[in-house]
Amino acid sequence: MDKLIYINGEWVGADLAKIVVRNPATGEAVGTVPRAGAEETRRAIEAAHEAFPSWSRLTAYERSAYLERFHDLIVDSADEIARVLTLEMGKPLKEALGEVMYAASFVKWFAEEGKRVYARGIPSHKAETRMLAIKQPVGVVAAITPWNFPAAMITRKLGPALAAGCTIIIKPAKQTPLTAIMLAELVEKAGIPKGVVNLVTGNAAEIGNEFMTNPMVRKVTFTGSTEIGKELIRQSADHVKNLSLELGGHAPIIVLDDADLEKAVRGAVASKFRNGGQTCICGNRIYVQEKVYDAFIAKFAEAVRKLKVGNGMDPGVDIGPIIDRDGYEKIDAHVKDAVRLGASCVLGGEGRAENGAYFYPPTILKDVRPGMLIMREETFGPVAPVQKFSADEEAARYANDTPYGLAAYVFTENYSRGIKLVEALDFGIIGWNDGLPSAAQAPFGGMKQSGIGREGGIEGIDAFLEVKYVSVGL
Ligand code: NAP
Repeated sequence: MDKLIYINGEWVGADLAKIVVRNPATGEAVGTVPRAGAEETRRAIEAAHEAFPSWSRLTAYERSAYLERFHDLIVDSADEIARVLTLEMGKPLKEALGEVMYAASFVKWFAEEGKRVYARGIPSHKAETRMLAIKQPVGVVAAITPWNFPAAMITRKLGPALAAGCTIIIKPAKQTPLTAIMLAELVEKAGIPKGVVNLVTGNAAEIGNEFMTNPMVRKVTFTGSTEIGKELIRQSADHVKNLSLELGGHAPIIVLDDADLEKAVRGAVASKFRNGGQTCICGNRIYVQEKVYDAFIAKFAEAVRKLKVGNGMDPGVDIGPIIDRDGYEKIDAHVKDAVRLGASCVLGGEGRAENGAYFYPPTILKDVRPGMLIMREETFGPVAPVQKFSADEEAARYANDTPYGLAAYVFTENYSRGIKLVEALDFGIIGWNDGLPSAAQAPFGGMKQSGIGREGGIEGIDAFLEVKYVSVGL
């Protein structure tokens, strides 16, 4: 599968050096994409800049019609996209299909939401003036996305950007450009005018630098690691670039002693092991109240033992490969550090590397303590460390003791304890008796070092709009 990049409605880059995309389950090559740099990025930005006036002048209804067509095409091609997604990213095919439908849901939601970008009339303090606040598209948008949700992290930006009237250049992760290119093929098929959506693959630092320094780019929206997010903040200073950042997380799962343990186990398994633990809102640490600590671990282990590890293309697989060697080594280091410092392994604990492919079994660690690496850093793997706590306030204190603030999970049947805990937690997303809180219609984003801004929901389109205040003298 040798693919090209999409600039100004044309497929280009055949003359460039190639990036080989590999299947993380086998190490085999799946395809190639061009290794573009600053020059191609500049051309893509110019194309988006050229397309902006006419796209932004369309009515919201006209843009919505394009997005509806794009949505329908994604749904029609879901099986095909999911297959490529699994081949390049590794997640089980059923999860890949779920992601494609989730990706489509952002396009649908924002096709509708673009029609509800309302202006506001403000009562004036002078009889001879009228005051208005109107909203307009921010302009050319550059979007940088990660490998763990190769389809949805793109549409969560592309949907609202296009609905708002912006044009866009997408830069997908080097591990998963093929899914992104399939989406761009559907953009073309939907008849979205040339230059409105462009896609470049290649040298991240060069492409990123062009995005950050080119004055035609008015907005950069990034999903990825906190480390690169901080670098973009630094780079944004010279041009005061409008930035939205969806960064890393370190989600706590808190199980209170009145929790329905079946619900808590179901939620913890869904949150922790989806995508092999490689999601930003994955539970990274589990705090269980002492009275139900042993019972929770027993039930949790029983459920986790059933999860099957393997090639995501094989039926029945629940946990695919780890994305690459770096990812694998980090997981391994976290487990070894915890065991060295006194944690014990209830399940798993030993990965395997085969022909350049890395697999890690679902692992449960008990008796972990706050200082351990796994309780501080994003693990991005199928390892669940469990720690005991006594009082509710203690759980909130442990949970908040992190520079991250993306997602947290609370399991309790008691509304009073639940509400107090929800209010005490410094996280942008809370799953209360729910291990899978994400949805196109809900705001998604983090506090503290997990990012700036929200995607999805009625908030998601604001990132692509400027508010203009108009005072009219009569
Ligand atoms: P990453 O290493 O930060 O990469 C993310 C994107 O940034 C990729 O497209 C990457 O390109 C690009 N990039 C790398 N260096 C760059 C630079 N100097 N300038 C501009 N762009 C650059 O993150 P990842 O490993 O792909 O993704 C995992 C991380 O994403 C985790 O921390 C996870 O928590 C986070 N994440 C957050 C959310 C959220 O909504 N908050 C959602 C999903 C994932 P290359 O691939 O070409 O290097």
